[in-house]
Amino acid sequence: MSEGPGPAGGSTHAALLDARARVVHDLGAHGLDAPAHVDVVDVAVRERRWWLDAWPEGADHVAGQVAQDVQESLLDELGVHWPRCSLAHPGEEPDPHVLHVLPDLGPDPHWACEETGAAAAPLGALRALGD
Ligand SMILES: [Zn+2]
Repeated sequence: MSEGPGPAGGSTHAALLDARARVVHDLGAHGLDAPAHVDVVDVAVRERRWWLDAWPEGADHVAGQVAQDVQESLLDELGVHWPRCSLAHPGEEPDPHVLHVLPDLGPDPHWACEETGAAAAPLGALRALGD
C-alpha cells in the first residue's frame, strides 16, 4: 500500500469534469443526448478516475481517453456509431464511417476522419450534423 501525498484532488476532479463536458457536448451535437448516452459518459468518467489517481500527470490526456471509452461503449452496448464523419471527401464518397480521437494518448485531443485522417474538430467542439 502506498501512502505519500495523494494527487491534487482538485485538478483531477476538474480534468474529469472537463472531459465529461466535452464528450457530452459532442454527443449532443450528433443528437445523442438521451439519458442512456449520458450514462455511458458517466460510467467512462467514473472508470477513468482510478487511472488519473494513479497517474495525475494524465490530466491533460483524460479527455481523449474518456472520448475513446465512450465511443467503444456506445458501439458495444448500444450499437451506435459515433461520431459519424460528415467531412467532404476527395474523390468517391466512402462508406459511412466515424471520426477517431487523435492523438491516441496525449493532450489537445481532436476528432479526425477515419478514412483520410483529416482533422474535423477539437474534442468538445464538434458541429451539429447537417450544418
Ligand atoms: Zn471521413
